[in-house]
Amino acid sequence: MLLTPSPRMPVLFLGHGSPMNVITDNPYREAWRVLGTQFGAQAGARWPRPRLVLCVSAHWLTHGWWLTGQEKPRTIHDFGGFPQALFDQQYPAPGAPEAAAQIGALLQDVPVGVDDREWGFDHGAWGVLLPMFPQADIPVIQLSLNWDAPPADHLALGRRLRPLRELGVLVVASGNTVHNLRAMRREATGFDAYDWAIEFDAGVARAIEQGNVEALADFEGQGEVARLAHPSYDHYLPLLHAAGAAQPGEPMEFFSADFQGASVGMRSVIWG
Ligand code: ZN
Repeated sequence: MLLTPSPRMPVLFLGHGSPMNVITDNPYREAWRVLGTQFGAQAGARWPRPRLVLCVSAHWLTHGWWLTGQEKPRTIHDFGGFPQALFDQQYPAPGAPEAAAQIGALLQDVPVGVDDREWGFDHGAWGVLLPMFPQADIPVIQLSLNWDAPPADHLALGRRLRPLRELGVLVVASGNTVHNLRAMRREATGFDAYDWAIEFDAGVARAIEQGNVEALADFEGQGEVARLAHPSYDHYLPLLHAAGAAQPGEPMEFFSADFQGASVGMRSVIWG
């Protein structure tokens, strides 16, 4: 499958939270389900059906940048200590090796490899795509997070993803605005969250509303609050890809903007 010009797709940043969200009844899974119904030719749809989903997941950290290039990517259960029902989940969407090569070429001077043997779909990807597109009939490619690159480079790569939106590609970035698993209080829901979690998330929301992507990339400048919100910032980086792929001044909206376990920010964003 090769990518061809198509009406512009939105860009999504989805807070994925606990892996259990995909198999339990909860407002996040319901929001992903409803979001999925807004793509297609049916009445009430906001956007055409994507030709391809490009997913940037917090759970694929690599040296250098990589795209998945398998015909039939495997479903990866990259977690432990969860019920068998979660390990039984499969997301059999096809890959798109030709499109992966095309995307690699479009990114020009950013060297991006195509991985045709190791990775498949990790739970940051399938955990949100399964509720959104349960038919698993839209091809999916994952883009890795280059763990050697500073946050500003992730924003820059996100900017390079913009033209893909005119080729029928839905960019789905999957992470969390706040992600501190050690501080989690499992029973906490909604806005029962730490002050630093609420403060950091509010700063993220403000920067997104103002289109201040430089402030998003410079989150470490917030010092202690940022370190508490992201002891390791793997779950933050996908947000930079999504914000970079948005056009300056593009309309945006938030949803699921609360917390899971007091220290995981579920705020999600649609641009476009
Ligand atoms: Zn995660």
